[in-house]
Amino acid sequence: MSEEKRTVVIIGGGITGLTAAYYLQKAIKEQRLPLTCKLVEATHRLGGKVQTVIRDGYVIERGPDSFLARKTSAFRLVKEVGLEHEIVHNATGKSYILVNGQLYPIPGGAVMGIPTRIAPFLTTGLFSPVGKLRAALDFVLPPVKTNGDMPLGQFFRRRLGDEVVDNLIEPLLSGIYAGDIDEMSLMATFPQFFQLEQKYGSLVRGAKRTTLKEQKERKGAFQTLKTGLQSLVEEVEKRLEPGSVIKGTRVERITRAGSVYRLQLSTGETWEADSVIITVPHHIVPDMLADYPFFAPFRSVPLTSVATVALAFPEKAIRQDIDGTGFVVSRRSDYTMTACTWTHKKWPHTTPPGKALLRGYVGRPGDEDIVDQPDDEIVRIVLDDLNKVMKIDGHPEFAVISRWKRAMPQYTVGHRERLAAIKQHMAAELPGVFLAGSSYEGLGLPDCIDQGEKAVRDVLDYLRQ
Ligand code: FAD
Repeated sequence: MSEEKRTVVIIGGGITGLTAAYYLQKAIKEQRLPLTCKLVEATHRLGGKVQTVIRDGYVIERGPDSFLARKTSAFRLVKEVGLEHEIVHNATGKSYILVNGQLYPIPGGAVMGIPTRIAPFLTTGLFSPVGKLRAALDFVLPPVKTNGDMPLGQFFRRRLGDEVVDNLIEPLLSGIYAGDIDEMSLMATFPQFFQLEQKYGSLVRGAKRTTLKEQKERKGAFQTLKTGLQSLVEEVEKRLEPGSVIKGTRVERITRAGSVYRLQLSTGETWEADSVIITVPHHIVPDMLADYPFFAPFRSVPLTSVATVALAFPEKAIRQDIDGTGFVVSRRSDYTMTACTWTHKKWPHTTPPGKALLRGYVGRPGDEDIVDQPDDEIVRIVLDDLNKVMKIDGHPEFAVISRWKRAMPQYTVGHRERLAAIKQHMAAELPGVFLAGSSYEGLGLPDCIDQGEKAVRDVLDYLRQ
């Protein structure tokens, strides 16, 4: 790396940008690199979708509430900032699917909806005898022939039939992405299922034989922080170089001037950078880099609006409870809610003794208007839905409604190819500019953290050339 001091700018202070800033500044310090790293965030706080409300003894997550323990980068970051003593695993309990207005326990041995044990599938009321027979075709159908991508729904419908997909797989999988399973990309979301099918000739056989089964059955597959996920954001922020974070400032435009980039900020200032990590959602990028028409495909990649609805009750208000930690709702139900977590049972640390905390989710593709309804109306709708499956007395002591407009990027069919083509153009025309974050290569917190770390490696490799 040349001895002349160079500048790296990270755009966006969500978990991806924060991770990149933390690890890059750490590398600069440890390796005494002649680099300055700055982070610009449009809003007045860091964390992006990670936001916690602490109120009356409750810990309420507005956005993500936990991360997959199996993907280790989140735990590593937690440890880096000394928060490992705050880690808790989820309490395990029964989860349900709501189909045609009725709650059914998720059949034992189902891995993301794929049966790994036959008996629970034969006995569940979730599917008709015809639906069960159709699913058994999975054992005899040849693997799908494709070199490219296909809709996740099409892949599963071919193997297991519509009933198993609509009543089990769709609510489980589309809940993670707030997406439409018939539009989502198989290869960008769950390529492991395609590989299982190709290797074992059957999803059921494949799921039975692989570690997927162990992962599902392992206790407490998720982790969170007792102090709320925002405490991770705060601890990372405390460790960033004083003066290196600029909040309340948007990067509006990036242009290239030879070997440097000029960043126009909403304050009217212009910064120069030798390398840039862009962690903002994809739909912002084409305008930010308007001189580069190859970003245009990002304009048509949809984003879903969702809202989380946290309702706090005295425990005794729940007169008829359910033995479990939550449910997801199939599209075959006349419900507005898409899912609900009994947060006080799944994450007992979040709720004071004698209280109950229910967290509902609303908003999915084709049903996003609900997110724009006034708070009272959203609470009324969610309570009506809940009262169809349990009995709750009166109104919550308080509600925390968090709207996430156009927040869930949709990895539609062709996602990976689209991104690869854009990255190829970037390497040729925008060397030293890198994309990372939930719009690109995974939207779970550990995926975002992985991308933040990878972007740091890319920047350092680029500047060492
Ligand atoms: P963001 O958090 O969106 O950060 C991007 C940042 O860029 C924002 O702060 C924004 O203000 C800033 N920005 C935008 N434009 C500009 C600009 N022009 N200049 C400067 N800054 C700009 N994941 C899990 O692992 N577990 C969960 O339980 C989970 N639950 C979720 C529940 C909900 C309701 C939602 C919405 C998401 C959930 N996710 C979950 C997904 C996860 O939270 C997100 O994918 C992740 O937080 C995104 O991080 P990010 O840094 O990529 O983007």
